[in-house]
Amino acid sequence: MSAIRFNYYDDWRNSILTCPVCGWQGRWEQADINHYSELMDAECPKCDSHPPMLAIVSYATGAETKQAAKEGNPEAVKELGRVLQRERRLVTLRGSWKGWRQTKGLKEPRFDKQR
Ligand SMILES: [Zn+2]
Repeated sequence: MSAIRFNYYDDWRNSILTCPVCGWQGRWEQADINHYSELMDAECPKCDSHPPMLAIVSYATGAETKQAAKEGNPEAVKELGRVLQRERRLVTLRGSWKGWRQTKGLKEPRFDKQR
């Protein structure tokens, strides 16, 4: 049996997870949670050796957060501000890169023919 995969805005917090090895049942917060950069997973808290992975939650992308916020998910609405801020910062960064290139352009030597 493979682990259940959740998207971030699914109801993974209230889902009951079942260990296929020892039969343990519980919620996400009662399992052993590992956090990674793009996802987190829940392992059985009762199995000592090689605890099976029960569920995986992938963190939301900016697009998923926007979509969930549009559908009224309160957590996504809260998160939306951070997503938009991150996007604005990216735009600013791109803008300053463009500005830097333009500055460089101005400094380029001119090869106009001298009269
Ligand atoms: Zn178990």
